[in-house]
Amino acid sequence: MLSFWEKESFLQYDYIIVGSGIVGLSTALSIRDKKPEASILVLERGILPTGASTKNAGFACIGSLTEILDDLSIMREEEVLKLVELRLNGLQLLRKRIGDKNLQYRERGSYELITKKEVDALDRMDAVNKLLNPILKSPAFSRADHLISSFGFNKSMVSHLVQNMLEGELHTGSMMRALSRICAERGIEIRTGCNVSAIEEESNSVTVGVAHPYIQQDVSFKAQKLIVCTNAFTATLFPDEDVKPGRGQVIITDVIENLSFQGIFHFAKGFYYFRELEGRILFGGGRNLDFDGETSTAFEYNSKILADLEDKLRNVILPYHTFRIADAWTGIMAFGASKFPIIKQKSHRVILGVRMGGMGVAIGSKAGEMLANLATVD
Ligand SMILES: Cc1cc2nc3c(=O)[nH]c(=O)nc-3n(C[C@H](O)[C@H](O)[C@H](O)COP(=O)(O)OP(=O)(O)OC[C@H]3O[C@@H](n4cnc5c(N)ncnc54)[C@H](O)[C@@H]3O)c2cc1C
Repeated sequence: MLSFWEKESFLQYDYIIVGSGIVGLSTALSIRDKKPEASILVLERGILPTGASTKNAGFACIGSLTEILDDLSIMREEEVLKLVELRLNGLQLLRKRIGDKNLQYRERGSYELITKKEVDALDRMDAVNKLLNPILKSPAFSRADHLISSFGFNKSMVSHLVQNMLEGELHTGSMMRALSRICAERGIEIRTGCNVSAIEEESNSVTVGVAHPYIQQDVSFKAQKLIVCTNAFTATLFPDEDVKPGRGQVIITDVIENLSFQGIFHFAKGFYYFRELEGRILFGGGRNLDFDGETSTAFEYNSKILADLEDKLRNVILPYHTFRIADAWTGIMAFGASKFPIIKQKSHRVILGVRMGGMGVAIGSKAGEMLANLATVD
């Protein structure tokens, strides 16, 4: 049972946010910007955020050349531009809010590896630069083939290199710690171990049910507005939404002597990505090898993909180095028929901000701002 004190002091808020990933915390901070006096609570089911925000690669990116070309094959030009703009604006807001030093934000080069099969993309590079120019104000992509040898990639597999002048990298752990620190400084409460299992909207409030592991009772939190930022895990609360989980596998090496490159790298339309990190290589991706198997919210390894990542690391990226795979993990993203996130009023008191794809680091802050705009309309 709950005490009088608990009922009086811990359960009523102006705003409750479900999910403490980048979108949940950014939403809380954007609400605070607009409502300095409001009481704001974030409910997180895990001990730590348990989705994608503490598992990602930390690329601050607007999209690689082949990814944008792929988008152009399925989306209208205006939509592709809108998506790039969302990423750009999101990154600007993130950097402004947290500061480059706290993010360990750096621009040490961003490159895409192009194989022989993809050389057609190079013919369209100038057209893509021109298309993006109104938003980016300068050409994003340029050829950097001269760096392939000095980076030490396998030249029989990497035939060209495209540099992106407008991308950077950050330290994911530092970003998420900074976000939760700023939330605490600004009076936003974050409660972990709170798996929201029920949402009930009434005429003057919305009630959120959380099972309490130590008493035989659900705890009911009440708010004026509820913002649901559960990304890949949305189906348990809203099965009708077009949100499908997409697992991502990541490996990291031990420290490698004399690494010959720094910065961030993508290939195969963004399905693979790697970066230098404190003398190690972090390498992730390969979801395209087993889309069905990776449509999962289970934090499990896919042995086929891990073997592929290790093979590409040894034979394409680091053919002249010996190294050990030091660690591996998975994170869960959210996808749907559209590449755009779902940011909408679900009902009078409930707002939904989910489906961030593989670009939540970039768009998460802007998504939070848009959600706060919806949540603070009276
Ligand atoms: C391996 C990997 C690499 C990536 N690399 C990049 C990258 O380099 N750049 C980039 O821009 N993006 C990248 N992404 C994508 C990015 O990480 C995500 O888009 C972003 O983190 C999504 O943030 P979110 O807050 O919406 O979701 P999440 O971080 O998943 O947060 C949702 C939170 O909700 C909680 N939750 C769910 N259900 C409930 C419930 N019922 N009750 C309470 N809490 C609940 C979860 O535990 C979770 O903490 C990557 C993702 C992965 C997995």
